[in-house]
Amino acid sequence: MSRFLGKQAAALTPYTPGEQPQDRRYIKLNTNECPYPPPPEAAKIIARQDAASYRLYPDPEASALKQKLADRYGVNADQVFVGNGSDEALAFAFFAFFDRGDTISFPDLGYGFYPVYADLCGLNANLIPLRDDYSINPADYLKAKSHILIANPNAPTGLWLEAGQVEDILKADPDRLVMIDEAYVDFAGEGVTSLPLLSRYENLLIIGTFSKSRSFAGLRLGYAISTPEIIAALERIKYSFNPYNVNSLTQVAAIASLEDEAYFRSTVGRVKATRDRVTDSLRGMGLRVLDSGANFVFASHPRLSGKDFYLALREKGILVRCFNHPRTLEFARISIGSDEDMDALLDAIKSF
Ligand SMILES: *Cc1c(COP(=O)(O)O)cnc(C)c1O
Repeated sequence: MSRFLGKQAAALTPYTPGEQPQDRRYIKLNTNECPYPPPPEAAKIIARQDAASYRLYPDPEASALKQKLADRYGVNADQVFVGNGSDEALAFAFFAFFDRGDTISFPDLGYGFYPVYADLCGLNANLIPLRDDYSINPADYLKAKSHILIANPNAPTGLWLEAGQVEDILKADPDRLVMIDEAYVDFAGEGVTSLPLLSRYENLLIIGTFSKSRSFAGLRLGYAISTPEIIAALERIKYSFNPYNVNSLTQVAAIASLEDEAYFRSTVGRVKATRDRVTDSLRGMGLRVLDSGANFVFASHPRLSGKDFYLALREKGILVRCFNHPRTLEFARISIGSDEDMDALLDAIKSF
C-alpha cells in the first residue's frame, strides 16, 4: 500500500464486487443483473444520442426524471432523490444522518456494502442476527436504539418482510430513521413494498435501483423516496460531493424506461416465472433453496460447500456467487437469468 495512505483509508475493508471476468464467455448468474435488455424505446434513445450533446453537463437537479419517478410512485418530486446507483444514495444517507461514533443497526447477514459504509463513516455497526431459518425477526428491531437499515427483500437470502412488519418497526420509535433498501422489491409479491407507509411515517426512507428490475446496471441509477426534509438532507450531501452524479444519457433513458410500464411488467414477470420454475427443479434435485422474493435464489447443494459448488459451476462456464460469511458457507447465490441460461445451470448440476 502507498506510504501516503491515510490511517482511516488503511483501516477499511472495501466491498468486493462480484466477478466480471473477461477471460472467456460465462453464463453470468453472479451479480443479479437482468437477463433482458432495457425497453426498446430506451434502447433507441441510447442509440440515437448525439455525441456532441455530451459537451454539456447534465441537469444537476435531474428534474424531468424526478418528476417521472414521482408520478410513478405517487409522491411529489421533492420527495425523490436520484443517485449514481442506489449504492450512492445509500452512501449519501450514511453521510447525511450519522456522525462518527454513532450506531447503526442492520442484519448480521445482508448487503455487503452496509458494513463497508459504516466503517467508512466511523460508525458502530449493531449487527442483529437473523433467525436460524435466515429470516429477519422484526421484534429484534423494535428496541434497537439507533437508526436502522434493512434490505427488503434481503440479500443474499431473498427472504422478505411484509410491509406490516416494517410498519411495526417504524412505529416503535419515530425518532429513529428506518431505511429500507428495496433493490429487489419488484420481484417480490404485493404487500412487500413500504411505499404505502410513506404518507403515514416521517421516519421512513426507501431506497431503490434501476439495476435489477430495469436492466440499467451499467447505466447506474438509484433513487430514494422519503419526506421532503429527508430528501433535502441527501441533496445537501450530493452538492457537497458530486452535483452531476447522474449522467445525461442515464437521465433520458430512465425516463423512457418509466414510460414503458408494460415492458417492465413483462420482463419482471418472466424473471419471476423462471425463478419459481428453477426453485422447484433445484428442490427436486435435492438442493435446499430458500424462498425468494428477488431475482436470485440462495441455494445449498447436499454434498458440496458453497465454495465447491461455485467452483464446480465455474468449471462448466457458469458463474454464481458464494460468500464467506460463517453462517452461510453451504450456500451459493444464483441470479435468475434467461430460461436458456437456467436450463444450462440445471444441466450442469445434474452432471455432477
Ligand atoms: C444491487 C444492490 C444495490 C445496489 O445497486 P446499484 O447498482 O448501486 O443501484 C443496493 N442494495 C442491494 C441490496 C443490492 O443488492
